[in-house]
Amino acid sequence: MHNAAYAALGMSRTYAAFRVAPANLAAALRAIPALGIIGVNLTVPHKQTAARLIKDLRGEARILGAVNCVVNRRGVLRGDNTDARGLEQDLRDLGCDLHGRLAIVIGAGGGAASSVLACIRLGASRIVIANRTPARAATLARRFSAKGARAQGEPRGLDALMDSELLAGARLIVNATSMGLTTGRFARLDYSSTPSDCLFYDLIYAAQPTEFIKPALAAGRQATDGAGMLVNQGELAFKLFNRIAPPAGVMRAALFDALGR
Ligand code: NAP
Repeated sequence: MHNAAYAALGMSRTYAAFRVAPANLAAALRAIPALGIIGVNLTVPHKQTAARLIKDLRGEARILGAVNCVVNRRGVLRGDNTDARGLEQDLRDLGCDLHGRLAIVIGAGGGAASSVLACIRLGASRIVIANRTPARAATLARRFSAKGARAQGEPRGLDALMDSELLAGARLIVNATSMGLTTGRFARLDYSSTPSDCLFYDLIYAAQPTEFIKPALAAGRQATDGAGMLVNQGELAFKLFNRIAPPAGVMRAALFDALGR
């Protein structure tokens, strides 16, 4: 999608993927100014390590302790994060009003941190963070309580996904884990206990409905994958890299074309 925007703007820049082993992240980051690369996006599992390696962290990267976007400004690396804004915008576009409502975020990594921030910004009055490792959910919850946020994250294990009383109040359930992608199936979740206006949002994006959203659609709930978030965070990153906005709709069209939509 970045290359589609460069082509549309007639810019001779290119966006390429590099596979980097965790042990090589620091060396890869040092290579950015040396190679004259204007910026990079980082994905699983590098976002949180990068936040420890990069000194100049901008607003959301500092709040989230995770970097998805590194910009090279005259040889100095800046760490930023466009995931939360990308998700927030997609949820707004989907008409998801969280004022006074409960949001459940599944996961406790970088994607989950962005999801919690997006839910706070959308006015959620209660946010439950459900994770396989409850201690990580507690650490993530503390990150936001320290910032004096209106809604504080409540850490739980994945058993929360079978808690019918809790689910009955949920306006939004976000999957911010790689479950389904790497495991072939999702955790047990009592879809039928959720209210009819509950939106199921999977950060994973794929050509077919994901393991998380398939049962939600079957239960008649609104459900979507993370393609919209991906486009939004990519457009924000494009602007940070190039100091110019991508032409409207070009990146979305390129991604949706690749996903066969
Ligand atoms: P991460 O920091 O590595 O966190 C992974 C999370 O998944 C952790 O909470 C982990 O639980 C959980 N998990 C992994 N395998 C599991 C399993 N077998 N059973 C239960 N829980 C499991 O990853 P991330 O950066 O947050 O990314 C999470 C997902 O979001 C990825 O699929 C990524 O592609 C997607 N994402 C999409 C976008 C987008 O633009 N659409 C943006 C960001 C991320 P533990 O803590 O117990 O290990």
